[in-house]
Amino acid sequence: MDLGLSDRAAPLHTAVRAMIADEIAPLDAEFLAEVDVGDRWQFTPRQTEILEGLKAAARDRGLWNLWRTDGAGGAGLSTVDYAYMAEEMGKSHLAAEVFNCNAPDTGNMEVFARYGTEALQERWLAPLLAGEIRSAYLMTEPEVASSDATNIAMSCVRDGDAYVLNGEKWWATGAGDPRCAVYIVLVRTGDDAAPKHARHSMIVVDAATAGIERLRAMQVYGHDDAPHGHMHLRFTDVRVPVENLLVGEGRGFEIAQGRLGPGRIHHCMRALGQAEKALEWMCRRSLARKAFGRPLAHLGATYDIIAEARMGIEQARLLCLKAAWMMDRGDARAAAPWISQVKVVAPQVALRVTDAAAQMHGAAGLSQDTPLARQWTHLRTLRLADGPDAVHRRQVARAELRRYSAPAA
Ligand SMILES: Cc1cc2nc3c(=O)[nH]c(=O)nc-3n(C[C@H](O)[C@H](O)[C@H](O)COP(=O)(O)OP(=O)(O)OC[C@H]3O[C@@H](n4cnc5c(N)ncnc54)[C@H](O)[C@@H]3O)c2cc1C
Repeated sequence: MDLGLSDRAAPLHTAVRAMIADEIAPLDAEFLAEVDVGDRWQFTPRQTEILEGLKAAARDRGLWNLWRTDGAGGAGLSTVDYAYMAEEMGKSHLAAEVFNCNAPDTGNMEVFARYGTEALQERWLAPLLAGEIRSAYLMTEPEVASSDATNIAMSCVRDGDAYVLNGEKWWATGAGDPRCAVYIVLVRTGDDAAPKHARHSMIVVDAATAGIERLRAMQVYGHDDAPHGHMHLRFTDVRVPVENLLVGEGRGFEIAQGRLGPGRIHHCMRALGQAEKALEWMCRRSLARKAFGRPLAHLGATYDIIAEARMGIEQARLLCLKAAWMMDRGDARAAAPWISQVKVVAPQVALRVTDAAAQMHGAAGLSQDTPLARQWTHLRTLRLADGPDAVHRRQVARAELRRYSAPAA
């Protein structure tokens, strides 16, 4: 098992790392400050200039669509190689989008690439791959426990050459972005007579379709994440051409599993990058600031705190790389419990390290003067987004128990 960065990917990794450190991260604070200028849900000219300028530079340097591990386009990286790139991207607010590697678009592009017809690929995948539009993934609903996706209730009924959609979705990440042009939506097409995992379908919806209302932006601990947003939407008699239904009625779960696997691991990789940054800031602060006549680094339990942070990150990274390696072997079913393990572990480690770093900064650590409070808030959401911890633990435990409950040969 080789969990190292390949020789082929090493120069790309160096280039990604350097561009983030020298060109992207230095613009994060300015970009974020611009959100409060004018309409929060539109990009200011300066934000567009920053983002599009960096994207053009990344594209010119071949640092584009690096997530694409399926061999079609992109840099043809393995998931293990990509893990090293994504970790670097986690170190800056803007980096993932600069390289066209941001959520939820990578997962959605994966769906279009694997399950979209030629016409859907031309209409939506091409501009997504070019970084011209953005997309959202609509699964979660306010009225049902959405961690169990068999509960999803948005109705989707065929009427001639269209499906008609009715219901509400919330936490649609990215749907507030003025560039968000398309939604991939999990809907219910089958009745109770159909097997539980064949009642749902995935359908592509043009975000400009009549009947879609934006009710509000959901807030995470009081933050609306504008202009990206996590939107609450209502669909009333939304007519969608039948050819927009992916693969066929009742195949929604199959597609959801394919979509969420890579997306989940990408989040974990970036979380580790955030943890590394937090540890760096914690060490620097503890050496630079004195209390009781000594640097904080040499007071109380600081050694333990720093050592625990380093050990936690290393353990989580190895688990993440093992999950990536399992994915590269091509057996999605075998990889699933590994992805679930790291989906529980990585956000929790990154949260612990970020919290410890904030504490080391005193009150400043909770304020707008460091990236730590914002980072903590984002990491906390990862314990729910793409499945809550409990659901992933369930996956891990069930896989473990299967080993002992299979009938003897
Ligand atoms: C910032 C953010 C962004 C998001 N982005 C998106 C998005 O883009 N698209 C989208 O569709 N959704 C998105 N979500 C929603 C997210 O995927 C759901 O919140 C998640 O799947 C849980 O569904 P729920 O909120 O309905 O919780 P519920 O299903 O009601 O679950 C609540 C709690 O019940 C417990 N629980 C559930 N199952 C079990 C179990 N098997 N064993 C033990 N306990 C259990 C857990 O503690 C769980 O947290 C986002 C969420 C957040 C916070």
